[in-house]
Formats: sequence, C-alpha cells, structure tokens
Amino acid sequence: MAGRFVKKDSLLLCPECKKTDYAIVWDENTRDTCVSRELRRNYTSLIGKRGIQRESKLHYKCPKCSKFVHGWKLKIIKNIDE
Ligand SMILES: [Zn+2]
Repeated sequence: MAGRFVKKDSLLLCPECKKTDYAIVWDENTRDTCVSRELRRNYTSLIGKRGIQRESKLHYKCPKCSKFVHGWKLKIIKNIDE
C-alpha cells in the first residue's frame, strides 16, 4: 500500500481470505482485541497512514476471517473518492 493514504472508506484486501472490507472496519475489529486501556492507548490506527513499513510489527485483524495479518500485506483496492 506504499504511497497511498489509508482512508476510512478505503477497501483493504486480506492476503489470507482474499476478501475486502473498509479500513474503518479493520480498525474497529482490531481495536476490539485490545482488552486493556494500555493496549488501546498504544493502538495504531490504519487510517491516515501512508503505507505501512515492511519492518513494522503492526498487525491487523481481518473482519472476515479473524486472522491477524501484517499491516504491510494489506492492499488498498480502492479509495472511493479517487
Ligand atoms: Zn481475512
């Protein structure tokens, strides 16, 4: 997803199940797994990011198959207003 900003309504493709959902759904689904206040504080939203570095340890939980995937493996399928 390098070079493109992730927006709430960006469609992201899961590399595991090949299904897509909106970035905001990925975000909320992942944040729901942060059970403590500290985890929630440290949570890094997908939205507003410009690509995710391959070195990054960020994982996001797929809303469709519930697997955790590396942030950099997510693909932006389309941004609605592009
Ligand atoms: Zn999936």
